[in-house]
Amino acid sequence: MNNCFILLAAGKGKRFNSKEKKQFINYKYKPLFMHSIEKAKKSKFFKKIILVTNKKIKIAGVNVIKGGKERADSSLKALQYLKNKNIRNVFIHDAARPNFTIKLLKKLNKYLNNNKAVVPYINTNNSTKYVFKNKIVNLKRERVFLTQTPQCFDFKTLYNLSKKNKNAVTDESALFLDNNKKVKFIKGEESNIKITKKIDINKSKIKTFYGIGFDIHKLVKNKNLYLGGVKIPFHSGLEGHSDGDVILHCIIDALLGALRKKDIGSLYPDNKNKFKNIRSSKMLKPIIFDIKNNNCYINNIDINLICERPKVSKYRNKIINSLSRLININKNIINLKGKTVEKLGLIGKESAIACETIVSISKYE
Ligand code: ZN
Repeated sequence: MNNCFILLAAGKGKRFNSKEKKQFINYKYKPLFMHSIEKAKKSKFFKKIILVTNKKIKIAGVNVIKGGKERADSSLKALQYLKNKNIRNVFIHDAARPNFTIKLLKKLNKYLNNNKAVVPYINTNNSTKYVFKNKIVNLKRERVFLTQTPQCFDFKTLYNLSKKNKNAVTDESALFLDNNKKVKFIKGEESNIKITKKIDINKSKIKTFYGIGFDIHKLVKNKNLYLGGVKIPFHSGLEGHSDGDVILHCIIDALLGALRKKDIGSLYPDNKNKFKNIRSSKMLKPIIFDIKNNNCYINNIDINLICERPKVSKYRNKIINSLSRLININKNIINLKGKTVEKLGLIGKESAIACETIVSISKYE
């Protein structure tokens, strides 16, 4: 598939009114432009991904090239860069539209088989007027097309039109229309809004979920003690099918709770030999992947480790650092408390360690 995805992120964002250019502001927990890059990668439609920007950055699997003065200049620079690279189709997208779906890419790609230009549009609900020869005239709103991006084109045709173009155009489909060339317009997505002003950022809905976890393991001789992925010198280790890491098991259960996906036992049944002696950090991995893949973000994790010894204060930083690495979250959203039980019961006699955890996860709709 000789498709290329061109992401335009060199704009000045005059209407945005912020020190940081809008394409780089944090949006839904990542830089605005990264949403488009990640979707382009995930779609697997593209042989090449090009980011046109004036910022000096490096992103794996992405060619970064310097932008021009206006949008059309940036677009032409990207096309020039592709000149001898055997590219058949280009998808041109504005970084300010982070909310398009992979489904839309699929649809555009399908229509590109029989067309040289495919462009998504939406209609407007507003009554529409047009200034024409000093007069304001009514327009039929169902005949008004608001065009969006990504727009996709046969590379050669677009490149030739762009090279010749002398007009200031705000999208590539304008070049086709100006030259009386056919554009296939398809229904776009209402949610594919353009982030133009600061107020647009708050237009997405957030849902928050909570999850709770509890776990307890017996302490046994001749086993290493693992807590939160950290090996801790102690007289015993935690019994269990895996390494017995109560903190990680507890976090897994809390995360599954917030994701509404049952519990650790249904994911890793202890009658299955393949999970025997598995490190708990390995058990955590697919869940963290799932969270990221579903556009969910962890807000915070609060942990109570219940044991007489080891002293939590001695290992707190190590454990938090390890959790931050394993879960891929900032350590300032993790809290770890140590609770003793006044030497009472099994935990008090250092025969067991227990843990409880609560997490909060948000999802952007
Ligand atoms: Zn456990």
